[in-house]
Amino acid sequence: MELTDSQIQRYSRQIILNEVGGKGQKKLGKAKILLIGAGGLGSPSALYLAAAGIGTIGLVDGDVVDLSNLQRQVMHSTATLGKPKVESGRKTLSAINPEITINTYHQLVDADNILPLISQYDIVLDGSDNFSTRFLVNDACFFAKKTLISASMFRFEGQLTTIKPHEGYPCYRCLYPEPPPAGLVPNCQEAGVLGVLAGTMGILQASEAIKEVLGIGETIANKLVIYDALDMKFRKVSRPKDPACPLCGPNPKIKDLNMNYTVSCTI
Ligand SMILES: [Zn+2]
Repeated sequence: MELTDSQIQRYSRQIILNEVGGKGQKKLGKAKILLIGAGGLGSPSALYLAAAGIGTIGLVDGDVVDLSNLQRQVMHSTATLGKPKVESGRKTLSAINPEITINTYHQLVDADNILPLISQYDIVLDGSDNFSTRFLVNDACFFAKKTLISASMFRFEGQLTTIKPHEGYPCYRCLYPEPPPAGLVPNCQEAGVLGVLAGTMGILQASEAIKEVLGIGETIANKLVIYDALDMKFRKVSRPKDPACPLCGPNPKIKDLNMNYTVSCTI
């Protein structure tokens, strides 16, 4: 499929980049990216992925828009309070770019529904706010051989990494073998977060996703990026493969999704 005149105009500022070009733009148009969570991280990523012309964007989220979300969840607005986040998101994204396909799933992901869902996409962005989902998404992407771009945040600090063990890189459990004990680390909901930090981390996820689609630049699949907003410092630390990893190691303990992923948030 050739780019139309209006597509050439819409994407001209990125098509003129040698690393993108018309060929790269067509790759973006064919790409299918699933966003787990249409909240603080998912909102900014979705806006930029839609604007960049990612052909198919999937939004999964079981929540409705709440007034306390609007401080950081910039895909939603006062006008969509009380509406499912995925519907509010669809409205915003299709207003930015009516040429792309937006699939919405007003549900939580669980061990039964996640594999059929991610199998329809090339890349998954994890923007969930709890450990149960985070580990479930990692394990599901491992079994489905999908590239996962994971970001998380706590107060003024964010973390970012790309996970693609199917290309020989470490998985999430190489870094964090198990979820922390209940109550040790609070969820974002309880802990407080600087809204603009969610923006930074979500946009970095979108940037890494676009790089993975185009196959350009340096992957962070063996790195962990740590961003401290207060000190304005980015650190990139190496994230090696764990030979004793319970998921991607030679003697894995985890062989399917039939485990209890529920992490209680109460102490
Ligand atoms: Zn691993």
